[in-house]
Amino acid sequence: MRVADNNILRKIEQYIEENRERIIEDLSALVRVPSVQSAAEKDAPFGKECKRILKETKKLYEKNGFATTVSSDSKYALSFLEGEGKTIGLFSHGDVVPADGEWEICKPFEPIVKDGYVFGRGCNDDKSGIVQSLYAAKMIKELKLPFKSRLLMMTGSNEETGMADILSFAENEKMPDASLVLDGEYPYYGGEKSSIKFDIISKNRFHVIKNISGGKVYNIVLGEVKAELEYSGSLFDELNEICKGNAAFEFKKLCDSIIITAKGKSAHTANVDESRNALVLLSNMLAGCKSIPQIERDILGEISRFVGNGHGIGFGIEHTDKDFGQLICSNGLIHTEDQKLVVGFDVRAGISFDTEDIKANILKATDKNWNVEFKRISKGYLIDNTSRTAKMISDVYGEITGDTEKEPKLTSGGTYARALSNAYAIGTVDYRFAPLIDLPEGHGGVHQPDEKISVEGFFGALKILVCLLLELDCMG
Ligand SMILES: [Zn+2]
Repeated sequence: MRVADNNILRKIEQYIEENRERIIEDLSALVRVPSVQSAAEKDAPFGKECKRILKETKKLYEKNGFATTVSSDSKYALSFLEGEGKTIGLFSHGDVVPADGEWEICKPFEPIVKDGYVFGRGCNDDKSGIVQSLYAAKMIKELKLPFKSRLLMMTGSNEETGMADILSFAENEKMPDASLVLDGEYPYYGGEKSSIKFDIISKNRFHVIKNISGGKVYNIVLGEVKAELEYSGSLFDELNEICKGNAAFEFKKLCDSIIITAKGKSAHTANVDESRNALVLLSNMLAGCKSIPQIERDILGEISRFVGNGHGIGFGIEHTDKDFGQLICSNGLIHTEDQKLVVGFDVRAGISFDTEDIKANILKATDKNWNVEFKRISKGYLIDNTSRTAKMISDVYGEITGDTEKEPKLTSGGTYARALSNAYAIGTVDYRFAPLIDLPEGHGGVHQPDEKISVEGFFGALKILVCLLLELDCMG
């Protein structure tokens, strides 16, 4: 590190020591806002709690002396530490994923501190970033650390469900010269896959199959689907024969319908290989049912081929990128509209397969029997690890933590970094300080029940952040 000498490091540590409780209370106050997306309202495009988190952030920053404005479209807040020369951006998001699952340690929006951790929805992802940005700016100002640039701190409110906030930022604001996105991992994400979310809609209408439905979001593989079929004695008997002893299916007669539930195994898009798609199980089974008209069985057969093993073979987009590995094409949604099936997919691909080419292949494969609606498309990126900024970040991280082995990770997930330029998605937890703790499996992580962040890990990351900013400032 060129700037942060021992004297500066000591000042940072002392400041954190003196303000520990206050910082954790500021984090807890933000966690108390249940900022999950809900129906749009006037001046609240992502619902009132997502708007409220922007207001609370504004209040917090202004109380600490940093001018803050909420964008005119109410999608993000911008706070500033004024300076001169270049602008350095810090990005975090205040919206959170729903507090699903069984919470054992605390109620999701009533955070507590226990066993060296803060618990609560969003304490890590990503309200930790909002509070670290604030206190990094405060330390620069109050400790009079050597820093000349203008610091822009952006808080978004739609990161988890569409990223319309960062797209609006990119469209309406001047791009900072360099940015850190406090929503990734150390030393930084080396790149992110592109993402294409799209629906295919059958051109033919279904008759015997009245309805198939399942899933809530594109990026979770369908673990369960339900189908409703027109009742006939022959179909019921045939299903009885096919499903005998097969635990994946349950079916029953209800009035003049047969209701079938198929159960597979759900997983995040990124872990598609660990999933078993329930729609494939259902489609394969029904496609073999002679009591269903051939035309409907053919369409089911196509669905099964398109979903396939989650790597896009059916769409002709199977591909392996030398850096990012195998393309993923997972299916998370299905519903019936006007007797037509609407099936939703999520593609994640390395940057060597252009999103336009992927789209063209999908259109070609579906041309005959399906219409396609492309929903959200974002390009991926790959960071040049030999660039000066990339090396500086690795060096600072390595010097402070002693961890010089950690490689930049490539990810299937998305952060704001993909919509920015010269941006690096770094961590908000220094895991060296995270104490061991016993939690049930599937608890404690981001997006999980009992989401947590290590208190010391949080402060460790804050120290890394201040050092990164001092170095970024003095880079030519
Ligand atoms: Zn996040």
